[in-house]
Amino acid sequence: MIKYELKCRGCDHQFEGWFADSAAYDDQADAGVIMCPLCSSADVGKAIMAPNIAIRRDSGPLDKAQMAAEVRRMLMEIRRKVEDNCDYVGAEFADEARKIHYGEADDRGIYGEATPDEAEELKDEGIDVVAIPWLPRSDA
Ligand SMILES: [Zn+2]
Repeated sequence: MIKYELKCRGCDHQFEGWFADSAAYDDQADAGVIMCPLCSSADVGKAIMAPNIAIRRDSGPLDKAQMAAEVRRMLMEIRRKVEDNCDYVGAEFADEARKIHYGEADDRGIYGEATPDEAEELKDEGIDVVAIPWLPRSDA
């Protein structure tokens, strides 16, 4: 069993859900059968848990705008690390990930675009892929 902190996007209610495993959660989430106990909305997702986010203790709790800025900063950092360390393969991502997995291409980190279906197929084949929210660069 695995426990997730869940959050209703309708009323912001946060609650706990138990699932057989992460795949069971994904299945139920996809089927829209996870419902908010307060408002019965099925628009429920995993809550972002505080330990996953670096919060500056000295400045007190972050308000929503600060939190958004912090998350954005972390995503840009991830993007930079990925770009520095991985080869960009664009729309060939699924093919290339498969070739690396089966030893037909050099073992290296790659990034590119994949459709949700392609990502699902790769997971089914035991190939680790991570979907990253890809923010556009901004100098602002
Ligand atoms: Zn709700």
